[in-house]
Amino acid sequence: MKARLLLVEDSATQGTQTKSELEHLGYDVRWVKSGIEALKWARQDPPDLIVLDVVMDDIDGFAVCRWLKLHNGTRDIPVIMLTVRDEIDDRVHGLQVGADDYLPKPFSQRELEARIFAALRSKSTQAELVERNRQLESMLHHVESLAITDPLTGLFNRRRFADVLRREVAVTRRYKNSLALLMIDLDHFKTINDRFGHDAGDAVLRAIAAALSSGLREVDLAARYGGEEFAIIMPHTTKPNAEIVAQRIAAQIGSLVHEFQGEKVSLTASLGIADVADLSEPSAENLVKAADVALYEAKRAGRNRIVLFEEHMLSAPTNLD
Ligand code: GH3
Ligand code: MG
Ligand code: MG
Ligand code: MG
Repeated sequence: MKARLLLVEDSATQGTQTKSELEHLGYDVRWVKSGIEALKWARQDPPDLIVLDVVMDDIDGFAVCRWLKLHNGTRDIPVIMLTVRDEIDDRVHGLQVGADDYLPKPFSQRELEARIFAALRSKSTQAELVERNRQLESMLHHVESLAITDPLTGLFNRRRFADVLRREVAVTRRYKNSLALLMIDLDHFKTINDRFGHDAGDAVLRAIAAALSSGLREVDLAARYGGEEFAIIMPHTTKPNAEIVAQRIAAQIGSLVHEFQGEKVSLTASLGIADVADLSEPSAENLVKAADVALYEAKRAGRNRIVLFEEHMLSAPTNLD
């Protein structure tokens, strides 16, 4: 497609010549003879580029250019200014009002051609850049959400969990709120993999993750902490209230029936709960540690149960694996 130029030139001789040269170069040219007409056509039918004479009777080229650059619909149209004078003041003035280039008369056809080509190219490069930035932004957005999401379950991943927990602990300390953390580890999950295969194990994890997130309040955050371990951050929640949530979750997990190779299986989970108020040194790390200690206590005591953290558990051996 031909590039469309608006030629603004009040001299009949100069205009006729420039127009025919530009047409010869393959451009589609509209020639107007005054600043008023230039503004009218630039707005009404924006061209790809404007070749603008500076010295005109009604409105001079500087004023036309300033107006064009002030208005949204015409701002991005490149402007090449033409003048008889090759004065430094005119160049500076032209650039001040936003002209993209400046060409002193008399100019050679080749010189004008080169300037037009350069201006059009930089315009299309800019348009491409805008598009490219848009694509990059949406890519970044996607990458960001990948970086915080667990791909198997769609829950937040451990990294996101850690970020949110740190923030919530800080807020909780500042406002003296309560904050409970619930850690969930499926019991004997390995037997699902062993008996029915890894894909079956994956399906169970997905089903349990879906059950977890459906039963939570907006403010609670469920994350996949590790392989078959989940964590739930519950802001503004005391341990007794967290225990009620834990009971509901344990019941939900237990009531899910998974069917593989015609066989129905259900799972139980062990749950540990800790509260920021439990901690002598409140921090995200210590809260996780406390919930973990309670969780291992639940495992040790026989699994399929909920244990609330207590200080004395810290001195007991915790590692079952
Ligand atoms: P316990 O009651 O002591 O927690 O026993 P368990 O079998 O649940 O725990 P263990 O830590 O011995 O094994 C966890 C298993 O979870 C082992 C690992 O292969 C499996 N696992 C971890 N991540 C995934 C996963 O993404 N998909 C599947 N299918 N299995 C996983
Ligand atoms: Mg585990
Ligand atoms: Mg387990
Ligand atoms: Mg384990």
